[in-house]
Amino acid sequence: MALPRVPKAGGVRASAGQSAGMPVVSSESVLALKRRARRIHRALADKYPYAHAELDFRNPFELLVATVLSAQTTDVTVNQVTKVLFSRYPDARSLAEADPVELETILKPTGFFRAKSRNVISLCTRLVDDFNGVVPGRLEELVTLPGVGRKTANVVLANAFGIPGISVDTHFARLAKRFGWTQSEDPVQIEQDVAALFERKDWTMLSHRVIFHGRRVCHARKPACGACPVATWCPSYGLGETDPGKAAKLLKYELSPGSEALLEQLLKESHRAAEIRMESQKRST
Ligand code: SF4
Repeated sequence: MALPRVPKAGGVRASAGQSAGMPVVSSESVLALKRRARRIHRALADKYPYAHAELDFRNPFELLVATVLSAQTTDVTVNQVTKVLFSRYPDARSLAEADPVELETILKPTGFFRAKSRNVISLCTRLVDDFNGVVPGRLEELVTLPGVGRKTANVVLANAFGIPGISVDTHFARLAKRFGWTQSEDPVQIEQDVAALFERKDWTMLSHRVIFHGRRVCHARKPACGACPVATWCPSYGLGETDPGKAAKLLKYELSPGSEALLEQLLKESHRAAEIRMESQKRST
C-alpha cells in the first residue's frame, strides 16, 4: 500500500483565496485541494462502479417514504419493510388513511416504529392536502413536509428526479472530514464545502461512492487504511489499521472474502438504479 503524499488535515489555512468554511489542510491551496478531491473521487469510481442508492424504490413517493424510514436502521431492513408496505399502501392517499396499529406492525422491524408510523401518516396527509398526493420536485417544498430534512430532500431529488445533489449522511460527513474536504460538523456547511470542489453533474454519484466507501472501508471506529484505495490522497491515513493483511479483514459486504454473490447482486441492482435515474432525469427535463 502506497503511503499518502498529502499533509495531515487540521493545519493552518495557507491559501489566500480560501473562503470561510473551506477545508483546511496545511500548505494545500484550493486548487491542490480540488485536484486531490477529484483524484479521490476517480479512485472511488474505479473501486465502486456499482455504487448506487441502496434503498429500493419505483417512484419519488416510494423513495421519500423509504428515506424517512431509514433513520436509525439499515437499508436492507427498510427494503424488506417497504416491499410489504407498498403492496398494502401503494400511494400517499392510502397511506394517509392507514390504520395506525396495522402500520406500526409493518414498520416494527425499522425501530422507533410508533414515531415513524405517526410521521409517515402526517407526511402523506400533507402530500394529499397540499400537493394532490404527488411528491414535489423542489427542495424548498420538500423540506416543508413533516419529517423531511435537507438530507432526505436531496436523496429524493438526486435519485428520483435526476437533480444533482449531495446527500450528507453520517458516512458522508465523516469521510468528508477525514479527506480534509471540510472542517465543519454542520451538514449544510459540509454540503456547501464539498459542492465547491466538484462539478454539479458529479454530486449524486459522488455521494453514493463516498457512502459506499464509508460502509465498506472507512468505518467510524476501525477504518481499514491498509486496504484503502484512496490512502495515497487521504490526510487521515493511519487513523485506522495500516497493516494490509489486518486491514483486509476489516472490509465489509462485497469486499470481504467469499462475497462474490453479493457483488453480482450489487451489479444487477446498480443497473436497475441507473435505469431509474435516467427515467427520472427524462421526467424532470
Ligand atoms: S480508510 Fe484510512 S486512508 Fe482510507 S479514507 Fe479512511 S482514513 Fe483515509
